[in-house]
Amino acid sequence: MSLIVQKFGGSSVANAERVMNVAGIVTDTYNKGNDVIVVVSAQGDTTDDLIEKAKEINPHASKRETDMLLSAGEQISISLLAMAIEKLGYPVVSLLGWQAGFQTTSAHTSARIKRVVPDRIKKELDQRRIVIVAGFQGLNRYDDITTLGRGGSDTSAVAIATALHADLCQIYTDVEGVYTADPRKVKKAIKLKEISYDEMLELATLGAQVLNNRSVEMAKKYNIELEVLSSLTKAPGTLVKENAKMEKMLISGVAKDTDVARISVTGIPDRPGLAFKMFAKLSAKDINVDIILQSIGRNDTKDISFTVAKSKGEEAVAILKDYINVIGAKEVLYDDNIAKVSIVGAGMESHAGVASKMFEALYDSHINIQMISTSEIKVSVLIDKNDADTAVAAIHSKFFE
Ligand code: ADP
Ligand code: ASP
Ligand code: MG
Repeated sequence: MSLIVQKFGGSSVANAERVMNVAGIVTDTYNKGNDVIVVVSAQGDTTDDLIEKAKEINPHASKRETDMLLSAGEQISISLLAMAIEKLGYPVVSLLGWQAGFQTTSAHTSARIKRVVPDRIKKELDQRRIVIVAGFQGLNRYDDITTLGRGGSDTSAVAIATALHADLCQIYTDVEGVYTADPRKVKKAIKLKEISYDEMLELATLGAQVLNNRSVEMAKKYNIELEVLSSLTKAPGTLVKENAKMEKMLISGVAKDTDVARISVTGIPDRPGLAFKMFAKLSAKDINVDIILQSIGRNDTKDISFTVAKSKGEEAVAILKDYINVIGAKEVLYDDNIAKVSIVGAGMESHAGVASKMFEALYDSHINIQMISTSEIKVSVLIDKNDADTAVAAIHSKFFE
């Protein structure tokens, strides 16, 4: 007998038929003698719809009330799935995040899981019940409901698998695994049999939404092997693990992120300490800066450009506009008509020419690169947003076709 955690995303439970389909998968697993814990997301576009509803009433609603609202989406799907399993004649119980023991930090709408106290889950498993847990939510130390940020149910699943030392953590979604590019955008994308935590973490962080990056980070930390697979077909999925065999590929995937904005601060006096002070202002407000480019000083001034998440753009610009007078810089420019396209692969550490191959693909498609950033296992470029899909396709075909 094994303890298996199965997570189903929003599209897997989008309507009654899909909910019954999931109930079938879960009870099949249970029938084999396993203990089963199921983590579910809100149905279909429910979370987006709830966000829209809130905006109609108050676009500046507090994050506490936003969490109260958004957590309702998962309450609907856990109860419906439990009803479906009851209908099939199996013992089942649904639990909200707090009932399942999810304790989080107090940062509403982007809380982090501090610990899972699985006493209630264990009691239910001891009764041989299938346990259905609401993903994406928890309780902070003030006893207020929190949510984990978009896509957070993946992390809920990995956290339960960690807390209960599960034998397997399966992430069921609407594609058959992790591919070399988004299979909905790139028809020739190839399904990977295995991928390492590090490469998956980069891909997830750089825009491949198939797994939430925090879930991969946690899986790596606690060495929880993940299986990503489809709830709609029986095809074998992708294993995410420490020592993954990568079929002699130079790179493991191409990812696109359009949630980026570029900020440029021009005419900064060319003297030490100003970059530090500028970025310290941003980090004090928890604004993460990504690709940074500094121009060579001219006429005793320089320009610094960098990217931030779009959602932080307005706040970052406001902070910097206040600050340029203090340091005597000229102006703050903002552009969110951009995209970050990246390649990821452990193979590039030992092979020359990977970056140039990527740049060649962009050149062949007449796409201009605005900024570049690299690490041991990734290369990212910033380009015009309108070119992003063409760029992904061109790069993918250069490396894989
Ligand atoms: P869920 O609702 O199950 O959490 P998501 O929509 O969050 O599903 O993630 C699945 C989607 O991720 C797929 O439908 C696919 O379009 C997208 N995706 C992006 N990049 C990749 C990739 N490299 N491999 C697989 N899917 C990807
Ligand atoms: N329902 C949440 C969202 O749409 C959490 C998740 O799907 O993982 O972001
Ligand atoms: Mg998801």
